[in-house]
Amino acid sequence: MSIHNVLVVNAGSSSLKFMLFDMVSEKMLAKGQVERIGIGRSLFSYSTEGFSEKQVPCEAPDHTSAVQLACNALIAPEKGGCLKALSDIDAVGHRIVHGGEKYSTPVLLTEEAQAEIVKLIPLAPLHNPASLQGVKGCEHVLPGVPHVGIFDTAFHQTMPEESYLYGLPRVLHEKLGVRKYGFHGTSHKFVTQRAAEVLGKPVETVNLVTCHLGNGSSITAVKDGKCWDTSMGMTPLAGVMMGTRSGDFDPAIVLYLLKNGYTAEAIDKLINKESGVLALGGTGSSDMRDLCAARERGESAAQLAMARLVHSYAMYVGGYVAQLGHVDAIVMTGGIGENSWETREALVKAISGLGVTLDVEVNRMCRGSEATISGSDSAIPVMVLPTNEELMIARETFTLLSK
Ligand code: ADP
Repeated sequence: MSIHNVLVVNAGSSSLKFMLFDMVSEKMLAKGQVERIGIGRSLFSYSTEGFSEKQVPCEAPDHTSAVQLACNALIAPEKGGCLKALSDIDAVGHRIVHGGEKYSTPVLLTEEAQAEIVKLIPLAPLHNPASLQGVKGCEHVLPGVPHVGIFDTAFHQTMPEESYLYGLPRVLHEKLGVRKYGFHGTSHKFVTQRAAEVLGKPVETVNLVTCHLGNGSSITAVKDGKCWDTSMGMTPLAGVMMGTRSGDFDPAIVLYLLKNGYTAEAIDKLINKESGVLALGGTGSSDMRDLCAARERGESAAQLAMARLVHSYAMYVGGYVAQLGHVDAIVMTGGIGENSWETREALVKAISGLGVTLDVEVNRMCRGSEATISGSDSAIPVMVLPTNEELMIARETFTLLSK
């Protein structure tokens, strides 16, 4: 079938972000989001060529009404008139967090596929139900349009057993699905493809370490263009330290806390929402900009938090480089990877034992744009490549339906 315009939807439990792409030119035509869905005082933001509105109060009691708001805006002449009619939307690509072992590629969201995603809810109790609400809302407002699911876990399904198995009895994997799944797969895949283009090599020949560093962060070892290992685990808590998540720590600490009066709910909150940069930085914030500013002012807690953060990144980058052998590039992306020159500088310094060097000036100038920030004598090129998960979802939707 002929696909021209693809709507990309990323539904959270109380938010819905959307972007419309023209897939002939890969141009983004419009984007927006609905916030505070179902909890009152909902807000709508939208922009397209020649029109922009931010956080306008709106009625969004559920995801269907949020999709309706988005679609109304796309066809409103007074809001830029991005589309003439909703029939101009040829397909919808949905970001879905967890595809388990079932989905390693995009899938048409038939009733059967949606039932499979329901089965995966125990693995992503917060995320998959929200994604499904987004799908249902879109089906209601855009009947007859194909809906495609793109999973955050899909890119990581190529990991070998030696990467994804924990040192636990196998029955836990077989009966309960306990294994490493990995997340941010759409971003790691996007920058892998882009890195291959920049390097001028076929994607199936590139070895990379891709660092998606944002509020949530993960680092992936890419071997021959495919995921070989990644830092996040069965849940997005594992791996490097993050804005409010602890990253790796001794799991027996959880038992210790349970024995010392913490409830399971309190520990869940502690390690997911009250740890990481927020816990160590001393700024009362999980935001990297605040941490960097405090570090610049010489605040010791901020300096320590930065050192601990970068230490955790370096552990993964170093471990992956050692195991991949030949590495074509180390790639940095995500809000921190793309914008925080301070973090990049500290990370390159931390892995200097690999023979990696930095072009200090190029790195300082690079904010949200593509650049090779390593020195000309670096053993491995270090690149900043802005990610574009929405475009990747649109591409995957387009590719599946154009087959
Ligand atoms: P999410 O995981 O929520 O998608 P992002 O990838 O948007 O997060 O990353 C958010 C992080 O990026 C925040 O910690 C933010 O401080 C950081 N960031 C964004 N812009 C800058 C900047 N100019 N300098 C330093 N850090 C930045």
